[in-house]
Amino acid sequence: MTTRVRFAPSPTGYLHIGGARTALYNFLYAKASGGTFILRIEDTDLERSNAEYEKLQIDDLKWLGINHDEGPDKPNPKYAPYRQSERAEIYQKFALELIDKGLAYYDFCSEEELEEMKEKATREGRPPHYEGKWKNPAFNEEALSRLARGEKPAIRFRAPNKAYVLNDKVKGRVVYPENMVGDFVIVRSNGLPVYNFCCVVDDHLMDITHVIRGEDHLSNTVRQLMIYEALNAKVPEFAHVSLLIGHDRQKLSKRHGATSVNLYRNENYLPEAMCNYLTLLGWSHPKEIDIFDKHELFEVFDLERFSASPAMYDLEKLKWVNGQHIKKMQNEEIIKLVNDLPGNEFFKSQSHEWKNASVEIIKQQVHFLTDFPKMIHEMITNDHLEMTDTLLDILNWETTPKIISFLHEEVSKWNTPFITEGQLNIWMEQVKKELGVKGKPLFMGVRAALTGRDHGPELKFLIPLTPVNVIKKRLDQLKK
Ligand code: GLU
Repeated sequence: MTTRVRFAPSPTGYLHIGGARTALYNFLYAKASGGTFILRIEDTDLERSNAEYEKLQIDDLKWLGINHDEGPDKPNPKYAPYRQSERAEIYQKFALELIDKGLAYYDFCSEEELEEMKEKATREGRPPHYEGKWKNPAFNEEALSRLARGEKPAIRFRAPNKAYVLNDKVKGRVVYPENMVGDFVIVRSNGLPVYNFCCVVDDHLMDITHVIRGEDHLSNTVRQLMIYEALNAKVPEFAHVSLLIGHDRQKLSKRHGATSVNLYRNENYLPEAMCNYLTLLGWSHPKEIDIFDKHELFEVFDLERFSASPAMYDLEKLKWVNGQHIKKMQNEEIIKLVNDLPGNEFFKSQSHEWKNASVEIIKQQVHFLTDFPKMIHEMITNDHLEMTDTLLDILNWETTPKIISFLHEEVSKWNTPFITEGQLNIWMEQVKKELGVKGKPLFMGVRAALTGRDHGPELKFLIPLTPVNVIKKRLDQLKK
C-alpha cells in the first residue's frame, strides 16, 4: 500500500513553528517513500476556526515549499472533502453505526449533572469517569423516545476497560493502562463531532498509513486507538515527534520570541533555511550534516532518525543556518534580490562585475540578505571611520603613522575610481622595502589605514571594490 500521510492543522491562528515542522516531516516522508501528502483542515471548532487563518497557513506552507498533493484546493474525488466542517454527515453516519453496535450511546446528562458526577468521584477518590445512567443499555428505550421528542443528546463512546499498547516510531512502546480513560463524548449535544473522533474517521477513510505529529497528541492516541478498534479499521503507524522547548527547557511559546512562521517570513529568513533548521529539530541526517536543502532529503528521510528527547529551539542557530544558505546561493540570485533592497543606491549603480565581486565577499559575512546594504556601507562605502579602541591601538603603533603618510600620498595621486589589486601589491612591497615594516605591523597597519578596521575580508578582494574617494577620505581622517 502506498504511503499516505497528512498534515491536519486547525485554522485557529497563524502557522506555528511546531506545525510547520510537523508538516515538513510529513511532506518529507511522503517524498522519501513515493507517497502522498495530504492537507486536511480540522475546522470543527467553528467558533475558533476562521477561513482567513486557513488561507494564511496554506500560504506559509507554500512559502516554505511544503506542497501538498491533496487538499481542499486539490481534491481527489475518492477522498474529498478535505475540510472537516464539510464532512458532518460522514461523522454522523459513523457515530450512528457505533450506537447501533452498542459501542456508543446517547447521553442526555446536563452540564450540571456531569459536574456533580465528577466532583463526587473526586471526593470518593475514584477517577472522574462517566458513570451516568445512559451508559446502561437498560435506558436505551428512554433515550430513543427523548430523542424522538427533539431533545439533543451528546453521543458518548463506550471506552473498553482494557489496556492499550502503541508501538510508536519515535517513543517506542507506550502502554496505556486499563481504566485510564472513561467513556468520552464523540459528538457534542450541539451536533459537533470532537477531534478524536473526526481524526480517526478521516484517517481511516483517507487511507492514512502514517500519522506523524507532535508528542502533545500522545494522550489523545489512546482514545483514537479505541475508535479504530470500534470501527474495525486498520491502525496507522504513529510517530509522535518530540516537543519543542525554549532555552529554559519549557514548552516553546510566545514568551520565547516569534513562534509563528509569518514573523520569520517578514524578517527575511530564507524558506530553505527555515526548512533546514526545522528538520534538525528532532531529526538528524544520516551523514550527520547540518546544512541541506529539502530536496536533498527526499532520498534519505526516514522515521528511524527521530530523537525522542525534546528539541531546543535556538534562534542563534537558525540565524547561522540562514547565513549558511546565503553562502550557498548563486551570486546572480543574490544580486537580483539585493538590487531590490532599499537604501542601496551605491550597489545598484555599480557594474555587474563589481556587484558579483562584492556579493562574493559579503555573502560570507551575513546572516540575512537584508544585511547587505549595511555591510556594503560598513566595509566599502563608509568614509567616516569610527575610532574604536582596536583602531586607536593600531594607530598608536610606531609604524602605523608612517604607513598612513605613505598611502595618503600615493592614493592622492591615484585618479581612476578604483585601485587595482596589482597596485595594492606594489604599495605593500614599497611599505615593506622602503619603510622597513614587516609582518603584523605591515598587514594590520595597511588594513587599518585603508579600511579603518582590524579585520574583514582579504584586502586584495576588498580594496579593489572600495571607491578611491572613500579611501582618500579615510586616510585624510587618519592623518589628522
Ligand atoms: N488538528 C490537530 C492539531 O492541529 C491535528 C492533530 C493530528 O495531527 O492528529 O493539533
